[in-house]
Amino acid sequence: MKTNRILFALLGCALLVALQGCRLTSHSLGKPAPGKPSGSAEMERLIDQPGPAELESIVSADWSVSLDGLLNLDSAEAISAGVKNREEPIQVYAHLLKHPQHGNFIIDTGVSQKLVDDPGKEGFNWLVQQAMHLDRLHMRESTGEILQRVDHRLAGVFFTHLHADHISGLPDIANDVPLYIGALESTDSSFKNLFVRGLTDQLLQGKQPLQEWHFQADPQHNFEGIVDVFEDGSVFAISVPGHTPGSTAFLIRTTHGPVLLTGDACITRWGWDHTVEPGAFTADHERNLENLKRMKELVSRHPQIEVRLGHQH
Ligand SMILES: [Zn+2]
Repeated sequence: MKTNRILFALLGCALLVALQGCRLTSHSLGKPAPGKPSGSAEMERLIDQPGPAELESIVSADWSVSLDGLLNLDSAEAISAGVKNREEPIQVYAHLLKHPQHGNFIIDTGVSQKLVDDPGKEGFNWLVQQAMHLDRLHMRESTGEILQRVDHRLAGVFFTHLHADHISGLPDIANDVPLYIGALESTDSSFKNLFVRGLTDQLLQGKQPLQEWHFQADPQHNFEGIVDVFEDGSVFAISVPGHTPGSTAFLIRTTHGPVLLTGDACITRWGWDHTVEPGAFTADHERNLENLKRMKELVSRHPQIEVRLGHQH
């Protein structure tokens, strides 16, 4: 009888942990990321003037996944357009940002060749490999090859979020490179984190502590928060939670004009054109959709912005 009671108590505890979920990673948080809180008025005053940054978006790998993960097929727009689930071709990008004073940064990381050669060693167990369909991933340019363009001199990594396909280049990034994320991205608890915590921990092992952007309320209420990353109005981190708790977009004033990197707040071209948020991989649909609308309104106020989506041109 006593053994049964202990067994039930243990099962109860395990169930509680499973229901409450866990943090995405046990990797430590460091001091806040640099930059100063800004607002949409300040950002939009500058947007249409060319800036000092150079930005190159590179396809690291071609991939295909189920469309219902990339696009909310239960949305009224998708239903009325008759969009059916299918295998959808996408790309995994790395964005190389060069700032004349502050150095080279990579926004999301592409894919390391090490991960393709031996996914198990990089923390992707069999179950994750099957769920992610790593067999459908075809390398174009590994993170290591991409970093050769800047002689591997990297001043930091900006993450749009920490899903596996955005941190899969970490094995090629030196351990002393600072890592920047949105608030709550690594600390929010979720049941889904149970499946990916192992690989997230392993990819971050030995790396610098994660540094969160210090977002404050946008005085104009157009966004949840904006940070002027280098305090010179060249790069803005924009808080767009929903797909993940700390999803972050970036507005970059390049020498060729403004570019908006949406991250996976919008993954597909169809989703952008029809204002439909991503699908099954999304934590909070309502908030994601709200932030997608905010980005589309920004672009309608400044049509010269070039929009680069999470996984499609
Ligand atoms: Zn993604």
